[in-house]
Amino acid sequence: MRIMIDGRYLPGNTRVSRDLLITLRNIARTLNWGIRYDAQREIVLINSKNSSLPPLPVINQADDRIEDTENARLAGKVICLDPGHGGSDPGAIGSTGTMEKDNTLAIALLLREKLEKNGATVVMTRDADSDAAHADASAGEELAARVEIANQAEADLFISIHNDSFTSNTAVGTTTFHYGDKESVKLATLVQRCLADKLGTKNRGARFASLYVLRYTDMPAILVEVAFISNPVEEMLLTSVDGRDNAAESICDGILKFFKV
Ligand SMILES: [Zn+2]
Repeated sequence: MRIMIDGRYLPGNTRVSRDLLITLRNIARTLNWGIRYDAQREIVLINSKNSSLPPLPVINQADDRIEDTENARLAGKVICLDPGHGGSDPGAIGSTGTMEKDNTLAIALLLREKLEKNGATVVMTRDADSDAAHADASAGEELAARVEIANQAEADLFISIHNDSFTSNTAVGTTTFHYGDKESVKLATLVQRCLADKLGTKNRGARFASLYVLRYTDMPAILVEVAFISNPVEEMLLTSVDGRDNAAESICDGILKFFKV
């Protein structure tokens, strides 16, 4: 795809990407530039001098094509998202008082949005600051309720989202756990790679762990430790809008790669 601004080509030939088109369109809207995408010639035409240039039908067609492709990618897939902790259980607490349960929920809600945009049906074990079982449920009841929700929904994937924590504040990095079955290992490996790449965190790898939510779920299941809330820098990452969005985007990318769509 080439980009032409005011009649001059920008150097280079970029791969057509939906993200790039949407970014360009948003920039143009913000700055009142005229923009249209010539799908046939794969050229984005930008007119920075003429803000009144109406968007031509071509860009709408291109948009529809892009949206259609996007919508179909996870059609028919049911994905269960499990934001760790919640309600009476704050999870780990960072040095500035931020709570794991808030970070996991924020990331999961962003991830839900991205997965739904791709056509998936998303089932949440909780979508508010609440327990999954009932108020003041025990840790055991909580875990059982979360597994039950995923199994009842006959989800295709189960993704549990957590923040790591350690007694020393120097521990850092991202880890994704699986229970050793082939599909879960594959999912964990892909999600882990996307997360470490995008967040720039230390890659602690995709690892085996005998965790309740991984053992008793009937579908490929992973538990993501996005980063360490006990480390001040990673605590900022986990509580920032960008950090949360990047985490959600990475997990979504890993899921798309898993389904090869
Ligand atoms: Zn946790």
